[in-house]
Amino acid sequence: MTTGGPETMSQQSAGSGRRVAVIGGGITGLSAAQRLISSDPSVTVVLFEATERFGGIIRTEQSDGFLMELGPDSFITNKPGGIQLCDDIGFSEELIPTDGEFRRSLVLRKGKPQLVPEGFMLMAPAKPWKIATTPVLSVAGKIRLLREAFVRPKNNPDEDESLADFVRRRFGRQALDRLVQPLVGGIYTSDPEKLSLKATLPRFIEMEQQYGSVIRATLTEQRRKKEGQSEAESGSGARYGLFATPRNGLGSLIDRVVETLRQSDRVTLRSNTAASSLSRNPVGDGTAGSSWKVSLANVPDEVFDAVILTLPTYKAADLLHDDRYTDLAQALRAIEYASSAVVVTTHRISDFRHSLDAFGLVVPAIENRKVLAVSFTSRKFPGRAPEGHVLLRTFVGGAMQPELLEQSDSEITEFVHQELSAMLGMTATPAFSQVVRYRRAMPQYHVGHLARVAEIERLAVPHMGLHLAGSAYFGVGLPDSIASGRAAADQILHDS
Ligand SMILES: Cc1cc2nc3c(=O)[nH]c(=O)nc-3n(C[C@H](O)[C@H](O)[C@H](O)COP(=O)(O)OP(=O)(O)OC[C@H]3O[C@@H](n4cnc5c(N)ncnc54)[C@H](O)[C@@H]3O)c2cc1C
Repeated sequence: MTTGGPETMSQQSAGSGRRVAVIGGGITGLSAAQRLISSDPSVTVVLFEATERFGGIIRTEQSDGFLMELGPDSFITNKPGGIQLCDDIGFSEELIPTDGEFRRSLVLRKGKPQLVPEGFMLMAPAKPWKIATTPVLSVAGKIRLLREAFVRPKNNPDEDESLADFVRRRFGRQALDRLVQPLVGGIYTSDPEKLSLKATLPRFIEMEQQYGSVIRATLTEQRRKKEGQSEAESGSGARYGLFATPRNGLGSLIDRVVETLRQSDRVTLRSNTAASSLSRNPVGDGTAGSSWKVSLANVPDEVFDAVILTLPTYKAADLLHDDRYTDLAQALRAIEYASSAVVVTTHRISDFRHSLDAFGLVVPAIENRKVLAVSFTSRKFPGRAPEGHVLLRTFVGGAMQPELLEQSDSEITEFVHQELSAMLGMTATPAFSQVVRYRRAMPQYHVGHLARVAEIERLAVPHMGLHLAGSAYFGVGLPDSIASGRAAADQILHDS
């Protein structure tokens, strides 16, 4: 059942430039397709998406006046991918910043929400004097954290180190357990003992090496910013604030990209079409040719000049059946993934004893609760809940508590309600609760991650025309995923 072969290929390519397959219709695949057609007027693209909808992990729903993000809810703007995509499709006007009124975070300490010290960015205390008054750390913990300014840098900076080792070494155990683990864990849903600092937050290694200390680096950079010397560094972040999201939710960004692609007669979007395998298309004598054959369930195979594979690495590996790809597939499978669930709930604000006057609450593992974090979504961005109401998103599972996801939706809902009551004083059952599961959706950048990715890149080199993109390689967030899709597109155009 193949339409492949060299004749088919040359017919398909004649006069129409390169023909590219994009596999996966999440934000990475859509961004890659958009970049291809906007950069080269002769390229044609077919995008294959297994499900009936585009957007992958991104999903926005509206109900009873609530705008609910079931997956991601915003993106960071000091990485360029998200802003570049929005600029390219004329969508930038839709972006809104976070609401300044509630711009603070809470961390649970002995069962009670406390303010994260003002200016504390993941692990860098931008206002060290604010550490002095926080109830989150003991006196000894505060002294140890501030002593970071005098801790000598590591001798062998090139050696990868876990986030936990770095923070213990520089800031002490309390800072790790009570602040950094929950703040960083909330982003990566990872075990900090395994998380590679080099692959996730390399800036802190640079700070240590360049300035001798993270605190000293932070203070110096702040001073420079104030003196107006660091305009370039603030980049697009200055245009929008640190986080942005579309007014009508991330789903509206997906809708706009899909609409842009549909307007082009050089793009075919094929939903409900899963790719089942990928291999070099054989030439007449049976040897592998230079084009790629994409096999599809229940429909004829298709042949392309190049392929951008945007699936999670274990799914990408599943497509590479042929013996020629065994090593590459094995290397792809070496990247681990964590599962999590988001529990979306809607409430009246008056149903909480806590004022919920923050962007959210992070929960340290040492507190032994069943949730990782609660995002007060409607406090972060306007237009997410009707007046007098609040929309919460509670995160469950991750690498640290995978066993919780074995429970049923109603069990998860029940323990989330109990946790919201215990931690935030919820006094009435939410009007609406929905559990959204993300099975093996979050790549884990374990120590050695960059070496693993370098090995994948090395093994992919002989397979000209095959490009890998997505959140598994150089950054887990939306801007990195978008940037990786765009980079794959640029590479194909560069190679042609
Ligand atoms: C719960 C959660 C919350 C997050 N929150 C944020 C956030 O707030 N901000 C942020 O920046 N990042 C966030 N992220 C990360 C962000 O969601 C990812 O970086 C991004 O969505 C990855 O997009 P993708 O297109 O690479 O993958 P996906 O969205 O997973 O898309 C892959 C697509 O491939 C399709 N597919 C699978 N198999 C096949 C096949 N065989 N053939 C064809 N198609 C196939 C799938 O159906 C899917 O549509 C979050 C992630 C999770 C899990």
